[in-house]
Amino acid sequence: RYYLNRIQELKHLNAFLEVYEEEALDKARELDARIQGGQPVGPLAGVVIGIKDVICYKGHNVSAASHILEGFNSLYSATAVERLLEADAIIIGNLNCDEFAMGSTNENSAYGPTLNALDTSRVPGGSSGGSAVAVQADLCQVSLGSDTGGSVRQPADFCGIVGLKPTYGRISRYGLIAYASSFDQIGIFGKDIADVAAVLQVIAGPDEFDSTASQKEVPDYQSGLSHNKSYKFAYLRDALYHDGLDPEMKDAYIDFFENLVDNGHTVSGSGFDLIDYIVPAYYVLTTAEASSNLSRYDGVKYGHRTEQKNLDLTDFYKKSRSEGFGKEVKRRILLGTFVLSSGYYDAYYTKAQQVRRLVADKLNEILDQYDAILMPTVPSTAFKLGEKTDDPIAMYLADIYTVLANLVGVPAISVPMRKHSNGMPFGVQIITKKFDEANLLSIAHQLM
Ligand code: GLN
Repeated sequence: RYYLNRIQELKHLNAFLEVYEEEALDKARELDARIQGGQPVGPLAGVVIGIKDVICYKGHNVSAASHILEGFNSLYSATAVERLLEADAIIIGNLNCDEFAMGSTNENSAYGPTLNALDTSRVPGGSSGGSAVAVQADLCQVSLGSDTGGSVRQPADFCGIVGLKPTYGRISRYGLIAYASSFDQIGIFGKDIADVAAVLQVIAGPDEFDSTASQKEVPDYQSGLSHNKSYKFAYLRDALYHDGLDPEMKDAYIDFFENLVDNGHTVSGSGFDLIDYIVPAYYVLTTAEASSNLSRYDGVKYGHRTEQKNLDLTDFYKKSRSEGFGKEVKRRILLGTFVLSSGYYDAYYTKAQQVRRLVADKLNEILDQYDAILMPTVPSTAFKLGEKTDDPIAMYLADIYTVLANLVGVPAISVPMRKHSNGMPFGVQIITKKFDEANLLSIAHQLM
């Protein structure tokens, strides 16, 4: 009831698309009865969780914040959702986001932007903006988002909370609406590391419905959190001294690294001269994958269908898709179709794949020599609403620090670090080797 009341009070933030009020209360009553009756309950009993509107929950609407899926009801639940329910979590509602998880501000939602609760003239980040604000404003305890190029870490940074993107393949993508399948991962928002670790513990692991979900055993993420160790950190010089980074933030990172050294850690600079290639490679590859993934929304199988009559099949597709998709999604379908078209495929798509390989080799080489890489999450604090909507390229470039982990498939987390003189928080991003979430979470816990 506490969370239901807060959601009502803070409705103007536009974080939730739907609230499952009766269902959540029923589950809470059922859990109370079980506990009073001395019956066992799951590891997340009573934990109140919100889910991004790209994650399927049987019998509930899922729209990817797009008109094209308006009114679509999930036929099955995502594996992550199944596991939350089995662990006795309470799912309280679904959360606003950028349409099909494409964006960095939540302004691309068909249901209007979500507002940053710390300053409502600013965006919460995106694409999982609603998921970030729900935790930031205490509308639920933890939330799920999806992170294809930073959509969990970037809004966590803008909202002053924790956001984890696990290793590609650590959490099943079954039931997650696809944007770019070789990048997409479900991620977790929380106020602290212990909450995030507890949820990861439940939802990670192999899944027969997703062949890209790893067979690797899920280690204990929670017991190592209290360790205090001295770590060997690297930072990427080309990231820290990049022109795009806010100078005040740059100084804060340098100061933060110096404090770590004073506390017995080592922090060394490492070169990473591929930095300016990662955003272009990311946008070529993800738009290519998106153009293919989104071809299923054809107005026939599901979603919006044009009411116009007497069209031939091609015009029917065109009309339904033109009406249903928003501007940014169309832009990406066009770009992705272009880079995949014959005559351009080798110049763009193949080239970007080669860049992805070089970036992965270089990053993995650094990760082999250090416990973790530390870097900014975003080059600035939260933008003002509307500040970047007319300039998609500037918006894409702000993804410079987050897309790296998705290109390579490694886990990364953003934890709150400092406050800017403009009053907004910003975080530090920690990256470790693949499937090293246990260390990633311990380090994050110690640095927070
Ligand atoms: N801002 C990035 C994009 O627009 C990230 C999206 C995401 O991680 N889903 O593609």
